[in-house]
Amino acid sequence: MKLEIVFLGTGGGRFATVTQKRKTGGIRILAEGLNLHLDPGPGSIVYSLAEGLDPRKINALLVSHSHLDHYDDAEVLIEAMTYGVTKKRGLLAASKSVLVGNEVCGPSISKYHQSAPKYLVKAELGSSFQVEGLNVLATEAHHTDPDTVGFRIESEGVGDVAYTSDTEYFEGIGNYYRGVRLLILCVMRPSGRPWKGHMTTDDAVKIVSESCPEAAVITHFGTKMILGKPMNEAKIIERKTGVRTIAAFDGMSIVVNDKIEALDVRRKRREGLERFLS
Ligand SMILES: [Zn+2]
Ligand SMILES: [Zn+2]
Repeated sequence: MKLEIVFLGTGGGRFATVTQKRKTGGIRILAEGLNLHLDPGPGSIVYSLAEGLDPRKINALLVSHSHLDHYDDAEVLIEAMTYGVTKKRGLLAASKSVLVGNEVCGPSISKYHQSAPKYLVKAELGSSFQVEGLNVLATEAHHTDPDTVGFRIESEGVGDVAYTSDTEYFEGIGNYYRGVRLLILCVMRPSGRPWKGHMTTDDAVKIVSESCPEAAVITHFGTKMILGKPMNEAKIIERKTGVRTIAAFDGMSIVVNDKIEALDVRRKRREGLERFLS
């Protein structure tokens, strides 16, 4: 078994989103039987098609919180997953803020679209659910949407992969990700530029050194991070923690099996799309 993680966007926050300096299409996780889309920000449907990944093959959609750069394309991906709401199919797991709203944001997916998938899961801290035979745990995040969760996907075949979502560092965060093979961190800001509720490179250093993953990948870059070159920030994390750290780019694919490999397979995938469209 192998897991493939495709970055359909590596931008995050308001300004990266409205300028599309980096795309904001979220992350696709593929494995045998699994076609999961994580945090469908603006452009998910467009970049999914552009990369040759048929959105109708999605069978699980995970939305970590009710901010535009994470939920925007959820409804259109639900329409793809359920063949235009004609077939009860797939799973939607989302934070309480996304499904019912809270005092500061949401709800962000209509009742119509919430009723379309076969399974609907409210992802709250400590809850877990099954997706195509894999167990997924909702992890703790401290962000401006208080219902934000991260996700830890447990795979007996290849080991665990986890995603922090937007969060600041807090005591104990590393415990949620201890022992994962690959940790995906939403590093909005570079080192030395703290912002309450969000992650900087300095926070990422602490999370990575506490959780000791086999490898880390940073993504969800704000404009200050993009200007500061994410690769340099990844080098800081790698140097300070000793953990291999990859800076994600739009269209990058990470394959997790006995090794963890970062690949640029954009052209190959687009050729696949041409076959799919013809
Ligand atoms: Zn965000
Ligand atoms: Zn957010």
